[in-house]
Parts: sequence; structure tokens; C-alpha cells
Amino acid sequence: MSNINFRNSSFLTSMDSFQKEPEKTLPMVMLVGRSNVGKSSLINALLSSRLAFSSKKAGKTKLVNYYTVDNRFYLLDTPGYGSTSYANLTTISFAKMMEDGLKKPNLKAIVLLLDLRRDIGKDDLEFIHYLQRSGKPLIVILTKVDSMNQKEKSLARKRAEEAGISRYLESELTGKANEKIREVIASYI
Ligand code: GDP
Repeated sequence: MSNINFRNSSFLTSMDSFQKEPEKTLPMVMLVGRSNVGKSSLINALLSSRLAFSSKKAGKTKLVNYYTVDNRFYLLDTPGYGSTSYANLTTISFAKMMEDGLKKPNLKAIVLLLDLRRDIGKDDLEFIHYLQRSGKPLIVILTKVDSMNQKEKSLARKRAEEAGISRYLESELTGKANEKIREVIASYI
């Protein structure tokens, strides 16, 4: 059990680049993933809140959202890549945002969400390798595992292995799975 109380959390602010930062510097953990992968759901599950839905208004999709967790660290929600022209992996502004974020000394870990009910695309692979090369700890979470049958689960695990991902957590949005994810995140703070 970590001694960080994830339930003691609040939405702090949104920033349009990593060149701006909240006044108070805290360790940061950044969530990244394709649009619709389940980022907001995971934030809400981890923080036992509805914060991610309430802050997810139109126009905020290009922004980095900061959640303060127990006054100990910032959980950062980044634009979901893939569907919008802004957050296309080849878009300079998105690439620049990632590059600036990965340079931050207080960025302690990256949480990459993957929905492996579908195949990993070439763009996902490039992004995974880019994150791996950054040298920051990478926590991979397979989302929506609760909606998979055994066959789909095996296929998802096979896809992860084929992408060179040997260690990952599985998110089921249940108490036990969330606690494990909280523990792993807390271990990097
Ligand atoms: P985001 O765009 O990455 O923030 O994705 P959302 O959190 O908004 O989730 C997209 C859709 O997937 C929603 O309909 C969620 O209810 C669903 N979803 C997200 N996470 C899970 C999960 O772990 N299990 C299941 N079954 N559905 C999920």
C-alpha cells in the first residue's frame, strides 16, 4: 500500500504547452494514449472521482490537464493521439509537446495506455519506441481487459509481447486492479 491518498485529488489547471508550468513544482506522471483508449476512465478510477469527465470540455483536447494528487504529485492527462488533426503523431505541435514534456526533470514516469482489442498500428509502435528511448520509466497499461473473453485476452497479451512490451498492467477498472496501478505509480514518486 502506498501512503499517497489518491482520493485526495483535484483538477488544478490546463496548460497548452510544457513551457508553462504550475507555480508549485511537484513530481509529475504523464498519461499518454490514443483517443478513446480509456484515459479519462482510468483517471477517474484511480482518483475515485469524476474529475476527468468534468474537465474534458471541448477545446481542452489540445491541453495538458494537471490533477494534483494528495499534494504529492501531478497526474497529467495529455491529448489523446490519433483522431484529431492536432494530436496526430506526425503533427509538429504534438511532437513538440511530447518532446518538451519528456525533458522535464520532474517527470518521474510515463503511463502508456493501450487498447489491444485492436492491432497495434505502425504509428503506435513508433510512439512506443520513442517513449522507450526517452529513458523515462514507462508503465504500460492494457485497458478494457474486463470486456475481453479469454481468447481476446491471450491475443492482447500476444500483441503486447510482439510490440516488445514485456511488462504491463491490466486495467479492469476494479478496486484491486486500480490499487496495483496506484502502487506502481506511487513507487516512482
Ligand atoms: P479517453 O478518450 O482515452 O479519455 O477514453 P474514455 O475514458 O472517455 O473511454 C472511452 C470509452 O471506453 C468509454 O465509452 C468508456 O466507458 C470505455 N472504457 C474506458 N475504459 C474502459 C475499461 O476499462 N473497460 C471497459 N469495458 N470500457 C472502458
